[in-house]
Amino acid sequence: MAINTHFYCPHGKCAFCPSKLFDSTPKFQRRTLDEIIKDIDNAALLDQMLFKSNEINDISIMRAISRFPSLSDCILHLGYWHAYSNASTAFLGGANPLLYRKEFLKTVMTHLKKKFPSINRITSYGRTRTAAKKGSSFFKVLHEAGLDRIHVGLESGSNNVLKFMNKGTTSEFHVTGGKNIKDGEISLCTYIMPGLGGKKWTEEHAIETARVINEIEPKYVRLRTLEIFPATPLYLKLKSGEFHELTEEEVIKEERLLVEHIECNTTITSDSAANLLLEIWGDLPKDKDKILNAIDNYLDLSPKEKIEFSLKRRLEAYESQYGSLSEEIQKKIKRLANSLKDDKKYYDRMKKIVKFIRKRLIP
Ligand code: SF4
Repeated sequence: MAINTHFYCPHGKCAFCPSKLFDSTPKFQRRTLDEIIKDIDNAALLDQMLFKSNEINDISIMRAISRFPSLSDCILHLGYWHAYSNASTAFLGGANPLLYRKEFLKTVMTHLKKKFPSINRITSYGRTRTAAKKGSSFFKVLHEAGLDRIHVGLESGSNNVLKFMNKGTTSEFHVTGGKNIKDGEISLCTYIMPGLGGKKWTEEHAIETARVINEIEPKYVRLRTLEIFPATPLYLKLKSGEFHELTEEEVIKEERLLVEHIECNTTITSDSAANLLLEIWGDLPKDKDKILNAIDNYLDLSPKEKIEFSLKRRLEAYESQYGSLSEEIQKKIKRLANSLKDDKKYYDRMKKIVKFIRKRLIP
């Protein structure tokens, strides 16, 4: 279950971030404690009315929707929450709930657990800049109130990259904020964005990010390869020549450098459709050699094999997200299959299809 603590992002200025383009309320807006408590009460009431029995399945959800059609989104949300997590998890929504006072968040979580006693795990997002200013005692209180994990978007450990991307934080805030969270006994999950340094800072981005990870030693490092969305500030920088995007191969080389330089105990995961190599997954340092070997296997492929590999992976990612290939993609693949493999345009066509699919994947 997701409980919105505020709307949109209080920072809202990262050059690569597409959320402004999709968000229906693009202005940051705090919610009051009363509003959040009312949301929880309404959700509990709806839950009680619709799902009294333990038998939650597609039929009970459809029956509930036909009874209250205007609440179909809420019912689906509640139904799937029961079906897939046994109503045991909750997420404090909003890009940075840490901006509230600890008493505020404690009240929200206490009320949530009171109304939904089945919840045994609460997670949230958070910004390192805010976490650095709060101090570890803030996180101890949140932990006691039930907050188990905080997900932070580090993106990079390089101050040059963070500044260029207008991330509104620094590697120093990353380290202090990350340590504060961990000192509060809250599990820390960090998100890293391969490719964010572009050609100019690729090496610095990898090495500095590894340095920050080594200092914080987060529980998880999750990779989210940079995708440049149209109409974002970064897209304009790309068009004006201020930013030079890495090729897929260069991104993998950067990831190799990152993995090589991580020396702490952490789990690295490549669990995003934006990533090409899903094999970058395991516990470090134990699985480092295995991961580096998988990277080298890719890097050893010929240029043509690399494109074929990429197309295969992107098609698989698309199918797993949307269930099947769109008509447009099927047509492109058919046209490609009908063209001659030794035609020099064959691989260019393949590259274009890869680009086309990547733009449609949800990272
Ligand atoms: S902090 Fe996160 S949500 Fe906010 S603008 Fe940056 S990337 Fe987007």
